[in-house]
Amino acid sequence: MRYEGVVYRPPSEAGSLLIQATIGCPHNQCTFCGMYKEKEFRIRSIAEIKEDLNQAKKVYSNTVETLFFPDGNTILMKTSDLVEIIHYAKETFPGLQRITMYGSSKYILRKSDEELLLLQNSGLTRIHSGMESGDDIVLKQICKGASAKETILAGRKVKKAGIELSEYVMLGIGGRERSRDHARNSAKALNQINPDFIRLRTFIPMSGTQLYEEYLQGTFRLLNAHDALQETRLLKS
Ligand code: SF4
Repeated sequence: MRYEGVVYRPPSEAGSLLIQATIGCPHNQCTFCGMYKEKEFRIRSIAEIKEDLNQAKKVYSNTVETLFFPDGNTILMKTSDLVEIIHYAKETFPGLQRITMYGSSKYILRKSDEELLLLQNSGLTRIHSGMESGDDIVLKQICKGASAKETILAGRKVKKAGIELSEYVMLGIGGRERSRDHARNSAKALNQINPDFIRLRTFIPMSGTQLYEEYLQGTFRLLNAHDALQETRLLKS
């Protein structure tokens, strides 16, 4: 496998084969995210992806049971191309039980219900989606590229197609000012989506990002431990 740059994967994909289908993130504007700053976004060719699967076959033989396609927002690939690499992966690894990728609301919404259903029927098991917040003001502040309404719509589309959905919410991303609204509105959105998994990550300012600069300038105030606990409680209530 030929990996380009740092490859990120969800914690639950720790045991998965990672095959980069996209390089970088097509959005790359979220103010807290520095994951793909050094990469210019591109979609790898089907031939390259298949070559990597072939290489993995030589290394892992038939032991691969779960496969994750990084990098960011692989769901934006043409549906026919996604179907082709999913089918090829299943042929290459007959024991595959789970195939997953990242997809944020902005890109999920570009797929029709029929396309998502086709992906599910082909073998796409799960989409990992970073909603981060269900609060419109926070979503706008962090340049997530989707409103709360769009986030709910996208999540419901995935569920309707029978694809598992893992939603990621970022604790503290509203700072002290929006903490309560962030928690309440995220809970409301999650209740309307009813994802299969909810993963909480705590915001930590990452050097090289816009939000890190805002934090240094004091215009973004981090939660203290007490606030973070309160936010978590509100989110769960
Ligand atoms: S969509 Fe995801 S990968 Fe892309 S910039 Fe935002 S958080 Fe980072």
